[in-house]
Amino acid sequence: MLIAPDILQVRSFGVNFYVIRSGEHLCLFDTGFLRGSDALDRALRSVAWQNLPVRAIILSHGHIDHVWNAGIFYQRYGAEIFADKREAGRLDGEVCGRSIARHLSRAEQALLRKWRKLPLPIAGELRPGEPLKQAPAFRVIPLPGHTAGHIGLWREEDRLLLCADAFASFFMASHYPPACFNEDHDEALRVGSRILGLHPEGLLPNRSSDAPRAS
Ligand SMILES: [Zn+2]
Repeated sequence: MLIAPDILQVRSFGVNFYVIRSGEHLCLFDTGFLRGSDALDRALRSVAWQNLPVRAIILSHGHIDHVWNAGIFYQRYGAEIFADKREAGRLDGEVCGRSIARHLSRAEQALLRKWRKLPLPIAGELRPGEPLKQAPAFRVIPLPGHTAGHIGLWREEDRLLLCADAFASFFMASHYPPACFNEDHDEALRVGSRILGLHPEGLLPNRSSDAPRAS
């Protein structure tokens, strides 16, 4: 679904990811989960972007439902993968978090090892505050709490934030992720307040039901 003229939302099983068009190339913001690969094909064809090169894969964080297809897309498009350096351990197969989050992390790392062959070839770190090299209208902002290296993409001109898992929104009810999915829930709540302090005009989470079309 085209959210804005240059932002395409792709729905995989249980989670969305985004395609950003910058001039004549594309960047992916996350890679979705099961059936994400076919969903991306269909979404690109639906807006006739299928022949535009995908230059970069930006990972908001290392949870399984955001990185599941990263290796596939890396191979298919030759696109470089970027992430915050604080996600390096998780992306390298490390079990992270405490309590329930740690159990979930152990399970997802086992799945990724079996099916997706970690580690991913991370080409470079994202630098907080700096424009995204492959889509300069956006800059990287750190949104720690959900995970240590969780990031979003902020566009100043329309005050739009691709906020990944800082918030979720289903059936018009926006909320924080459940505490058990946050590595540091208190920090996630503080980050949520900081986001609202930016006075965003729009938030695009990775977990949401349909958003209204841009007019
Ligand atoms: Zn997550």
